[in-house]
Amino acid sequence: MKQSIAFIFLIFSLSILTAQDDTRIYDIINAVSAERIEKDVTTLVNFGTRHTLSDTTSQTRGIGAARRWIKSEFENISSDCNDCLEVFYQKDLIKKGEGARIVKDVWVVNVVAIKRGTKYPNRFIIMSGDIDSRVSDPNNFTSDSPGANDNASGMAGTLEAARVLSQYSFESSIIFVGLSGEEQGLYGGRGLAAHAKQNNWDIVGIFNNDMIGNITGVDGVVSNRDFRIFSEPVPPTETEEERRARRFYGGEVDGISRQLARYVYKTTKTYMPEMNPMLIYRLDRFGRGGHHRPFNDAGFAGIRIMEAHENYTQQHQDIRLEDGIAYGDVLKHVNFGYAKKLTTVNAINLASIAWAPPAPTTVEIGGIVEPAAKLKWSKVDGAVGYKIYWRDTTSPTWDNHRYVGDINEYTLTGIVIDNFFFGVAAVGKDGHESPVVFPNKVFR
Ligand SMILES: [Zn+2]
Repeated sequence: MKQSIAFIFLIFSLSILTAQDDTRIYDIINAVSAERIEKDVTTLVNFGTRHTLSDTTSQTRGIGAARRWIKSEFENISSDCNDCLEVFYQKDLIKKGEGARIVKDVWVVNVVAIKRGTKYPNRFIIMSGDIDSRVSDPNNFTSDSPGANDNASGMAGTLEAARVLSQYSFESSIIFVGLSGEEQGLYGGRGLAAHAKQNNWDIVGIFNNDMIGNITGVDGVVSNRDFRIFSEPVPPTETEEERRARRFYGGEVDGISRQLARYVYKTTKTYMPEMNPMLIYRLDRFGRGGHHRPFNDAGFAGIRIMEAHENYTQQHQDIRLEDGIAYGDVLKHVNFGYAKKLTTVNAINLASIAWAPPAPTTVEIGGIVEPAAKLKWSKVDGAVGYKIYWRDTTSPTWDNHRYVGDINEYTLTGIVIDNFFFGVAAVGKDGHESPVVFPNKVFR
């Protein structure tokens, strides 16, 4: 009897540090609705076209009507949570000729909804979808352009994640945003990233959702479990000094966006084991772009979350029948159950990060010509402890870890620095963790 009480106590004390015991995560998974996503994708498709240069005065057709509806939907969500969202337009005037796809002056208008954090109000994790759509000619702003999968799916997922997460309170702020101007040259993302810099927003990263509803690939593969997480290896803003240091200390595959990608991979594997996340070690698809890139350009972490099996006859196409193939990004090709799953992937990762303390700003590593790797890090307000992670140099994921409590240095005896990569994450009281920080200093 005594033994079993001791055993129960042991389990209880261990459980304090395990985020998997936070049942709110499972409540979030259960709350995401495929029906509501279907309803919202349908509404967006019914605006006829959402091309960035399309009509803005009609109440029923064009990007103006679409963004007003998205704003009113965020406001409805907000009124269901005691006005918990700050909803506003963030916009920039793009002048004719600024890019090949800007054939007239246009306001690129993003719709932003902020769920303000209780403890770190100026720290943000962002989920985005895109408002705009296109057909075969990128400058055709009048033809029907339903953009059901590209990217009403990502926009509807963002609205649904806002609905579900607005019912909770978080320590960090979450931004739900519909971006515009994606198809014309990533203008909306560029505008919001600049807005973030001007306002000194502390951005943890952005989850750019672009096409999260197709399960039938052009290659014949059908899967409602596979999805991709794209991340660039290192920030394009790194200095020459940082580039030189990488040659000697490593970090070629350990930039901030890559750590965010690994975070999403791990959270998904932990809570949604039926899913197959694929870490793709590149900025985006070969030669193609997406709205996380302008955030990366500004030095912020950002990843693209999307379906694994694309269908090119249903992207950027005039709606037509040709050689027996029905071209066009129409409603019937979207799998709402799958869009729900990828929305859920976003929601649990937004929640985990917004419930976790910030990551340590400084992580130092030492142990050259010694039989032990040594780590030191800056402590974080709100962390109850820290986890040291390490992995084989050839492994894509943080396979080994040690929880070390509320200290700021640790020696991994018997683990030689040369043979592994290392990192440190902060752990909060409910067990939620910050993204892993790769060492950014060396000590001897
Ligand atoms: Zn597109």
